[in-house]
Amino acid sequence: MSRKPFIAGNWKMNMTVETGTKLIEELKPLVKNADCDVCLCVPAILIPAMVKAAEGSNIHIGAENVHWAASGAYTGEISTGMLKEYGVKYVIIGHSERRQYFGETDESVNKRTLAALDAGLTPIVCVGELLEERESGKTNEVLDRQLKVGLNGIEDVSKVVIAYEPVWAIGTGKTATDAQAQETIAYIRKKIGELFCPKCAEKVVIQYGGSMNAGNCKGLMAQPDIDGGLIGGASLKTDFATIVNFNK
Ligand code: PEP
Repeated sequence: MSRKPFIAGNWKMNMTVETGTKLIEELKPLVKNADCDVCLCVPAILIPAMVKAAEGSNIHIGAENVHWAASGAYTGEISTGMLKEYGVKYVIIGHSERRQYFGETDESVNKRTLAALDAGLTPIVCVGELLEERESGKTNEVLDRQLKVGLNGIEDVSKVVIAYEPVWAIGTGKTATDAQAQETIAYIRKKIGELFCPKCAEKVVIQYGGSMNAGNCKGLMAQPDIDGGLIGGASLKTDFATIVNFNK
């Protein structure tokens, strides 16, 4: 089963119209021959300007979150319809920072994921364990719960991208080893096979995220179950292009 690699950036709460436009202009020629899908998920307020900056290129602009309701009294949230107005295709859901600082739960991740799919968006659903959970041997248990609840009720799981992001590796410079990332992502694929069907699991694109950079991307991307990366810090500079060109 061949899955198309997918490299996505997550700008988090960084960049401005000016710096973001400049970076996209620099990235465009560097990533134009990529053999993978390329996306930058940016702060909602930057989406219109970044979509304009990326026009005519192979860089998709994605969002960092989306609400489940079509509209209504949800101050501070954005809807799938608002994203689609700008041609957004991808949206990150359940990033560990959303879970840690903004009270996101597996249940809210599920609602957001279902709404994104319903609207024809591709959710990038983030899962991953805390350091103490890994150290106490609870990684698989945590992933089981995040996948079972987060993906509950999905009809076609192949339309979802999963980002495995061990929380201890995000923004810390501590990357999971190639073997650790492969082993855990293979476990996630097996679990998705159990929850849905083994054949469907083979179609799901699963990214690794957590201090992935220009230096370690080749080794991670060479692993059979790792189909891409969700890139935080390194997506704020032209290093992102080196990751996108991991196979060149
Ligand atoms: C992320 O934000 O999803 C991430 C993986 O960040 P970093 O690459 O900076 O660890």
